[in-house]
Amino acid sequence: MSKVIAVFNQKGGVGKTTTNVNLSASIGKMGKKTLVLDLDPQGNTTSGYGIDKNTVESTIYEVILDNLSIREAIISTEFENIDIIPSATELAGAEIELTSMKDREYILKNALAEIRNEYDYIFIDCPPSLGMLTINCLTAVDSVLIPIQCEYYALEGVSQLMETIKLVKSRLNPKIDIQGVVLSMFDGRANLSIQVVEEVKKYFKGSVYTTLIPRNVRLAEAPSHGKPVIYYDTRCKGSVAYLELAEEFIDLEEDVI
Ligand code: ADP
Ligand code: MG
Repeated sequence: MSKVIAVFNQKGGVGKTTTNVNLSASIGKMGKKTLVLDLDPQGNTTSGYGIDKNTVESTIYEVILDNLSIREAIISTEFENIDIIPSATELAGAEIELTSMKDREYILKNALAEIRNEYDYIFIDCPPSLGMLTINCLTAVDSVLIPIQCEYYALEGVSQLMETIKLVKSRLNPKIDIQGVVLSMFDGRANLSIQVVEEVKKYFKGSVYTTLIPRNVRLAEAPSHGKPVIYYDTRCKGSVAYLELAEEFIDLEEDVI
């Protein structure tokens, strides 16, 4: 059984892309066949995996807008068990183009149906806006993984985010669920970080992962080397944390704890 997961939070800069790249790479490393789909026109997940979105032949844009078979947009990578579907800058225009299309909310879901059983996990990096791409994404997924930054106003926008998920659940995707909440950029020396963890746990009850992702400069550096952090500096705190998160994620998924 495959599972399709959106890494989603309407707020920018909270660690969506960092989590998408590094959690997927860690899950791949643990032997799970994983597809990473970059739906953000900025393409940071694509470049984070060392792929230049300006030179790739086919992207998710052609799949959504030109009816290209999704299989043709898949790129296999040098990283264990990781395939990518890259983003394209033109994707920003897709928001408008999609509006006039038939069954416009279901285009990504229908495209993914062709390949989803070939993977254990499919991770989608969402754009921060709430446009047609995000709606397509939320319609296509089984669950949503929410990164929250350990910062002031961490919970700002979260009620809107929950409303969005509720709306999608009632109108487009009844099975959508919360996969889990990841606390990112945690600083164990800062009272604020510790306070945010408590607040977020109170709000999301049992849905928050025990693993905390620390603030770690290696995580910020790795994308410029085109590698997930575990292939850039295996032993840094960021690598250890994302591997631990992957383990927790899989254990919960496979119900072994
Ligand atoms: P989003 O996709 O939500 O906009 P990003 O994952 O791109 O957020 O993260 C925003 C910025 O913070 C990026 O420059 C990224 O490298 C940096 N960053 C993310 N997580 C961490 C972390 N745990 N430690 C240090 N820097 C981080
Ligand atoms: Mg991003």
